[in-house]
Amino acid sequence: MSGADVIVIGGGPTGLTVAGDLARAGRRVVVLERRPARHPGSRAFLVMPRTLEVLDARGLADAVLATGATTSAVHLWSDAELRLDRLPTRFPHGLITPQAHVDAALEDYARRNGATVVRGMEAVELMQDAYGVTVAARPGDGGELRTWRARYAVAADGAHSSVRGLLGIGFPGKVVLSSVVLADVRPTAPPPAGQLTLGSTPDLFGFLAPYGDGWFRSMTWDRDRQLPDTAEVGDAEIGPVLNRAMGRDLGVTEIRWRSRFHAEERQIAQYRHGRVFLAGDAAHVHSPMGGQGMNTGIQDAANLAWKLDLALDGADDRILDTYHDERHPIGRRVILQSGAMMRAVTLHPRLARRARDLLSGRLLGTGAGDRIAGGFSGITLRYGRQRGDHPLVGTNASHVPLGTARLAELLRTPGFVLVRERGAGRPPAAIRQAERTDEGPALLVRPDGYVAWAGATADPGWAAVLGTWTAVTAAA
Ligand SMILES: Cc1cc2nc3c(=O)[nH]c(=O)nc-3n(C[C@H](O)[C@H](O)[C@H](O)COP(=O)(O)OP(=O)(O)OC[C@H]3O[C@@H](n4cnc5c(N)ncnc54)[C@H](O)[C@@H]3O)c2cc1C
Repeated sequence: MSGADVIVIGGGPTGLTVAGDLARAGRRVVVLERRPARHPGSRAFLVMPRTLEVLDARGLADAVLATGATTSAVHLWSDAELRLDRLPTRFPHGLITPQAHVDAALEDYARRNGATVVRGMEAVELMQDAYGVTVAARPGDGGELRTWRARYAVAADGAHSSVRGLLGIGFPGKVVLSSVVLADVRPTAPPPAGQLTLGSTPDLFGFLAPYGDGWFRSMTWDRDRQLPDTAEVGDAEIGPVLNRAMGRDLGVTEIRWRSRFHAEERQIAQYRHGRVFLAGDAAHVHSPMGGQGMNTGIQDAANLAWKLDLALDGADDRILDTYHDERHPIGRRVILQSGAMMRAVTLHPRLARRARDLLSGRLLGTGAGDRIAGGFSGITLRYGRQRGDHPLVGTNASHVPLGTARLAELLRTPGFVLVRERGAGRPPAAIRQAERTDEGPALLVRPDGYVAWAGATADPGWAAVLGTWTAVTAAA
């Protein structure tokens, strides 16, 4: 039996982020991945601004940005548009790039930091007791079962998670849209560069995202052509549907990849099951509208990894419960948000569509538009706070300007950071510190970039809050 601190089941973007973060913190991590090689398919294509911040805090953002094209807005319908260029972030844009580039960067990050990624190894048994978790996995070549033992396990094994089955966890929800066609296409008369374009009629929709090299990711759906996922995708389901959706001929003649799938909305009730934590698609799936799947999984991972690291040091076990408390509501929100967008796009009655165009055009032109973009991009998503906490507790601190390095650069080294208010003296404490250059309170920033405490540096409150997260309460 091989030993580790944490076993990660599934080497997709979620599992590789958890593994990389834990390995960066000096933990022994093994990733068991069923596939012998990286997933070659073109799946998620949009990296959201908050995910770019997460990648930045791992030193990966610039390399991933170089693989695609950025987009500063999402055109929805009529004159409704979601603007990303007003967001308070270093990355006021999404990145359009095939998921394989993100997966590759995260795998490199995990391996470089010392995680062991075992490919061609499918987890088939999982048992847990008071001290740890034992996972048995079968090699793809049919060899003998191998077992691993660790203090914790993370199930990041995707929408069809075997761990959910092994633990008897339900995945309640339903199919919400069937026969959605994905393809990579090259139009001769493309929409304007640098934006995501969505067009629809009462009976179909078409969506285009530019990769920046003349090729586009397309997504099409036709109410009158509903087929099982296994049915071959014909050319007529791509170019002509895009033309009708956008109201003009885009000249799609080249198609290099195509696939049909159906969208489901599902979420597990509890993200923590003893010493096993479910994350990413294993915990939630939703409509592809809004491009949230990969992003939410990476952000689940960024929330979980540092808490496991602290627990491995003997911190209070209850901090592990905060993973569910913080990420389950976000998963719920993503399901509602992407579902609302999908239902608005596929609205059938003409009158309802006219009302939608009228209301959404007005709404998105106001501050509400920026609030929706903030949630959609992940930048303004926040975690809860306790009664009496400063209103900034739980918010994303990434945009706070510092005199020295950027916060994301400081967060490349694991641990909390104390950001002092401008001009405040440096307390003699064993914590990394920085000074903010704008007006605003001192902040205690968690390893994932969210505010744990806000106030004045001279107030001992920050040290007390730091203690609640990090104090050793159990034998490590
Ligand atoms: C056709 C398609 C189109 C998509 N389009 C979009 C999109 O446009 N936008 C978007 O945001 N998202 C999209 N997604 C979803 C996106 O790909 C996922 O949200 C994202 O990959 C989730 O990452 P994950 O790491 O949680 O799971 P996955 O990427 O599914 O990774 C799970 C990994 O676990 C492995 N695994 C499974 N069982 C076991 C086991 N028992 N033992 C070991 N390994 C195991 C799998 O081989 C896989 O590599 C799409 C998905 C598909 C399939």
